[in-house]
Amino acid sequence: MPTFDHVTKYAAAGCLVKPLLVNFFTSGEAFRLKIETAKPLDRVPDGWFHASTHPGLTEGQLVTYLTNPPPDKPEDFGYIGRMSVMLGTIMHEVTRQALVQLKLMVPVVPGICPACGLAQPRLCREHGASDLETRSRGHLDGILHFGPPPPGPPPRVFAPENLWGFDLKTIKNVILGKAPDMDEAFFKERWPTYWWQVQEYMRLTGLRKFIVLFQGIGNPWDLREYHVTFDPVAAYEIECKYLNALQHAGLS
Ligand SMILES: [Zn+2]
Repeated sequence: MPTFDHVTKYAAAGCLVKPLLVNFFTSGEAFRLKIETAKPLDRVPDGWFHASTHPGLTEGQLVTYLTNPPPDKPEDFGYIGRMSVMLGTIMHEVTRQALVQLKLMVPVVPGICPACGLAQPRLCREHGASDLETRSRGHLDGILHFGPPPPGPPPRVFAPENLWGFDLKTIKNVILGKAPDMDEAFFKERWPTYWWQVQEYMRLTGLRKFIVLFQGIGNPWDLREYHVTFDPVAAYEIECKYLNALQHAGLS
């Protein structure tokens, strides 16, 4: 049984991924990391709804998003914003590769990504999801499976009830503060946009539980873990808002 010394007191009962990651990063196990990244590009409006932005908006805001012409010059995030995004991308890759090495990450099945249309895993290595009717699509940071993998050759068939969606958020330690692990009500109130985001991922994928892991950037590299369960009322609300907004915008 691994021990987590000083970290134990900060990991509430029930945390799944946080103690495994802490144990991995503090163990003597070899870890080679190869990172390929580029300067983050601006995302231009594409007429689709995105889980990171839209599920918590009102119908009116969604209609505005759909009907307003894209800005001539996208919002400039400047040096600080771009460096934050780039470092966040690097930390995502560190954690992703650690989860792969821990054999927690469910591999992408070779084929065409339903979100971006690129060949997987060569050109897109993330789990994508989309729903044409509500014009919503996106990529997940990962799908996790705990315990021994299902028998048989790859691509293995994972039972849906044993799968967890996974989303990693990099954040300043000071913002994380004394946020408690594993308190979904706290998480929903403190970070509603993130709660809606993972509800939308569950609506799109059929997953019914999700782990959100916050990673504080810089000393002391805090981690917080939250588990979010599927809320069918939220899913219905998103669906209705999206369909109504598409209708009002003349896109359905
Ligand atoms: Zn993709």
